[in-house]
Amino acid sequence: MDHFLYRNGVLHAEDVPVAEIAAQVGTPVYIYSAATLTRHFRLFQEALSPLPHLVCFAIKSLSNVAVLKLLGDLGAGMDVVSIGEYLRAKAAGVPGERIVFSGVGKTRAEMRAALEGGIRQFNVESEPELMALSEVATSLGKVAPITVRVNPDVDARTHAKIATGKKENKFGIPISRASEVYALAARLPGIEVVGIDVHIGSQLAELAPFEAAFGKVAELTQRLRAEGHDIRRLDLGGGLGIPYTRGNEAPPLPMHYGEIIKRSVGHLGCEIEIEPGRLISGNAGLLVTEVIYVKSGEDRDFLIVDAAMNDLVRPSMYDAHHDIVPVVEPAAGVDQHPYDVVGPICETGDTFARARALPPLAAGDLIAFRSAGAYGAVMASEYNSRPLVPEVLVKGEHFAVIRSRPSYIEIVNRDSIPEWL
Ligand SMILES: *Cc1c(COP(=O)(O)O)cnc(C)c1O
Repeated sequence: MDHFLYRNGVLHAEDVPVAEIAAQVGTPVYIYSAATLTRHFRLFQEALSPLPHLVCFAIKSLSNVAVLKLLGDLGAGMDVVSIGEYLRAKAAGVPGERIVFSGVGKTRAEMRAALEGGIRQFNVESEPELMALSEVATSLGKVAPITVRVNPDVDARTHAKIATGKKENKFGIPISRASEVYALAARLPGIEVVGIDVHIGSQLAELAPFEAAFGKVAELTQRLRAEGHDIRRLDLGGGLGIPYTRGNEAPPLPMHYGEIIKRSVGHLGCEIEIEPGRLISGNAGLLVTEVIYVKSGEDRDFLIVDAAMNDLVRPSMYDAHHDIVPVVEPAAGVDQHPYDVVGPICETGDTFARARALPPLAAGDLIAFRSAGAYGAVMASEYNSRPLVPEVLVKGEHFAVIRSRPSYIEIVNRDSIPEWL
């Protein structure tokens, strides 16, 4: 569910007509709904209660500081995978005690900055990382709270590029070696074991892989406790999928996901952390773009729009589907026409959709890609020297630019020519 609906024949973001934002900010532009973000965050809060828990928003899905402030003010924790994301969380006013640090390649400089600024826990992914963290913490006279990310070897049955819980993936340590690694953690100075971490992938369309993974984590909790470790937190990762196509079978609801969690690990007396990204941010965002040309090809028509793969890379990177809707509601019963929807970049991969049925459109019309809030703006680049796409947040009848479009002067002036050239 989201808050992007037609009212009086025009698409609205909450109470604001999308066309009004496009007129003021220009296109392409990302538009986020505060009500949708809030609603999705609360679904997780409700799904986990009454267990003691912290819902840590996976910043990598949507990292604008205004969005982080909105979620942080609702009580969200944050899951960061770089010190850049950590600094965004801090800039949004989220305290270190609510920030968990994930990722396979944390550098010593990142560890140092997080320890100095305050951190809830590091989710450690390898023995070399554990040893580096021990050295950094000791040198600062600090103790680093850690979980070890275990790889449960379950098939998340999602797109290969976003599956992370199989033994061939680079993530975590094999669950079969957990005892060894926890024993090492217990011996190392500057390290305090607080729990276990697992994250098996993204855009999961079913609950069974979660249940399999959480069951293995429950067993491991008992085993590690028997071996003398104080396992008091379980970080169960993110990954719950969202519906990208309206009308199709919907992925599981947070409520049912919560039931799985309660059933598999609820009896252990642990504080539960989860790290949802996409389910909170995905359907809370639109990418709005204008049709530049309608080009008739030999066997198809192309809708050439002013957004491109550098603004929204998911279709070309993951073959992802995004529903596309015209900003002016089509008249009832109007004949649909198949279009290839493409951007202006000189790559065939710059294609958003093939043979997509849409009402007849003309140059100057606005269309919106739905479900573009997650892994949209954060993956944008300036390929082709196209300015990073701006972001707008809507709340009720208010809207504000929360990241402005850089000017061409700014882009060009970021480069410098050495004096010896
Ligand atoms: C990407 C990621 C998430 C968020 O995944 P979603 O599918 O967006 O919920 C959470 N935790 C970790 C460690 C991740 O890498």
